[in-house]
Amino acid sequence: MKDLNCTRCKATDSPNRITNVCKRCASPLLVRYGLDRLKHSWDRESLRERSFDMWRYRELLPVDDPEEIVSLGEGGTPALPFTRIGENWGIPRLMMKDEGFNPTGTFKARGAAAGITRAKALGIQKVAMPTAGNAGGAWAAYAAAAGMELMVAMPVDAPESNQRECLLYGADLQIVDGLISDCGKWVERAVEEEGYFNAATLKEPYRVEGKKTLGLEIAEQNGWAWPDVIVYPTGGGVGLIGIWKAVEELARIGWVTGKPPRMVAVQMEGCAPIVEAFRNGWKESRFWEGARTAASGLRVPKALGDFLALDALYRSDGTAVAVSDTTAKTALRTLARTEGCWICPEGAAGLAAIRKLRREGWIDGRESVWLMNTGTGMKDSEWAG
Ligand SMILES: *Cc1c(COP(=O)(O)O)cnc(C)c1O
Repeated sequence: MKDLNCTRCKATDSPNRITNVCKRCASPLLVRYGLDRLKHSWDRESLRERSFDMWRYRELLPVDDPEEIVSLGEGGTPALPFTRIGENWGIPRLMMKDEGFNPTGTFKARGAAAGITRAKALGIQKVAMPTAGNAGGAWAAYAAAAGMELMVAMPVDAPESNQRECLLYGADLQIVDGLISDCGKWVERAVEEEGYFNAATLKEPYRVEGKKTLGLEIAEQNGWAWPDVIVYPTGGGVGLIGIWKAVEELARIGWVTGKPPRMVAVQMEGCAPIVEAFRNGWKESRFWEGARTAASGLRVPKALGDFLALDALYRSDGTAVAVSDTTAKTALRTLARTEGCWICPEGAAGLAAIRKLRREGWIDGRESVWLMNTGTGMKDSEWAG
C-alpha cells in the first residue's frame, strides 16, 4: 500500500493510521498501491504456488504481513458456463461467477475478510456497521474469528436468516425500525458515544479491496482477459467499484491489457436510484423514496459511493437496468431447472437483466457475458416457490 486517496478532493492519508473518510471533505478514501513498482517486481507466475482463495493476490490487498490475515477460506469461487440457458437465450458464452460458495454464503465475505484483517492489524477492537443483511452476517463471522466485538444495526424487514446468523456469531444485533439509511444514523451515534469504529460501506477504505478480488478472479479465470460484459446486481455499488478498480490496477501492472469489460448495474424496479441516475446522465443518484423490493441486498435508496459506481458505468461504456421482482423470480426458477443452480434473488435480477439486454440487442449473441451471482439462494428460501 502506498497511501489512501480521496475519491473527490484527491487529498491523501496514511494507511497506517485508523481512518474512516477524507479528513478534508468527508468523501470515501480508496487504497493506492505502488503499481509501477509492482509491475516490475510481481509476476503472474508467482500465483502458481498459491492456493486459490482471495489472498493469492495479496500484493494488491491491504495486508503488510500474511500472518495478519483473518481468513475463513473466502474467494476462489467457481466460474460456471451456463451453456443450456445461454443457448436458449441466444448467448452461448454466458458464464456465472458463483459467490454462493463463500463463507456465510455471499460475496460479502470478501469485503469482511479484508475489512476485519485491516481493522485487527490496526488494533481496532470494537466495530459497528449498518447492514441490509448479508454484510452483517459476514462481518459477524469474521469478527468472531478475529476475536473482535461487532455491533450490527439492521432494518426490521431484513431477512430472518441474517438476524439469526449475527446472533449465532455473537454480534450485538440492533433492529432498527426504518431503512438502511436510518441504521447508518444509528451507527454514527454509537460511534460518537461509545467509541466503536465505523465500518459502514465506504466509510472505511478496505472492504472494497476485498470485493475487488472478484474482478481479479474473473480476469484470471478468463485467461487474463476481460469478458465483453460483466453484470452486477447493485445495492451500495461496492462490488462494481471494486471490480472496476481491479480493471484499472491490472491494466497498470500490465497483467490484462485488452479491452475492458462493459459494466452493467442491475437494480429492482422498486428501488433503482443508480438506474435512474444513469438514464439521466447524472453524476450522483437521488434518494429513492419508498424503496420496495424483496431482494434485501438491493434495497439501498442512496449509496455513499453512487458517484463512483456511475463513473465505472460511464467509463466502461456500460449500462444500468431495472427489472421487476416477478421477472427475477421467474429467471431464478428457470435457471434452477435448466442448470441445477439455486441463485440468490439479487443474482436472479442480474439474470433477468441479461435476458432483457439480449432481447434489446445491447448484448450481441457472440459476446461473453459474466453474471455475478452474489450469494446462495438458500438464505432466501421463500424465493424458491
Ligand atoms: C450486498 C449484496 C449485493 C449488493 O452489493 P453492493 O456491493 O452493495 O452493491 C448484492 N447481492 C447480495 C446477495 C448482497 O448481499
